Amino acid sequence: MHPPRGHTADRPHRPALRQLLLLLDLDNTIVDRGAGLLRWAEEFSREHSLGADAVEWLMTADGDGLKPRDRYFAEVQQRFTLPAAPDELHHAYQARYPRHMYCPQSVLDQLARLRDSGWTIGVITNGLTTTQEAVLEHTGLIAYLDGWSISEAEGVCKPDKAHFERAASRCGSSLDDGGWMIGDSIDADVCGAKGAGLSTIWISRQRTWPIGLPPPDHAVGDIAEALQFMLAHTAW
Ligand SMILES: [Mg+2]
Repeated sequence: MHPPRGHTADRPHRPALRQLLLLLDLDNTIVDRGAGLLRWAEEFSREHSLGADAVEWLMTADGDGLKPRDRYFAEVQQRFTLPAAPDELHHAYQARYPRHMYCPQSVLDQLARLRDSGWTIGVITNGLTTTQEAVLEHTGLIAYLDGWSISEAEGVCKPDKAHFERAASRCGSSLDDGGWMIGDSIDADVCGAKGAGLSTIWISRQRTWPIGLPPPDHAVGDIAEALQFMLAHTAW
């Protein structure tokens, strides 16, 4: 049984070191949401016998996860003239989608090493509480975190500073001593974290940082590289 939302987990073997805060975005940062969604879309297409082009349509219509799910499933229902109501489709998605999400053990091991080095680690994510908590649980991430903050539960979204404050608080920490944020969203993660006084690592996903925008402190290709950077720059 996992702890309640935002619970600060016990860490009996934690070394008494200076504790810095490391916040992590979830989708397309720690977990490859695109790959997980593709697995869900393939399953959904098979289940409903949707035909050859359905998977590509489901992926495109998803809008990289930014489209509200009620609107997405209204479009899905209409596009494929499914007998199930959009609410039912969404409900089924909430049950199945998290089970298609994975986090490599090597990344979980990196998180464990950072915590053992004195870092306080939290997830900050914009999304639905039920879905995101199920992803944290299914991927095993929940055991490696000091806390987590989900926008639906908190009533506030990144890039709002209040969400970063809440995430820090959920980890038993605060933004007063600074810390780091790792994420793939230019606006929500990097600009938001900068506004909250955090240093930033951007997961570029083969994109170029926009000209004219203050850059992140560091840019990397994926989460493994980001966590390796943190481990390499942990001075104690
Ligand atoms: Mg993201």
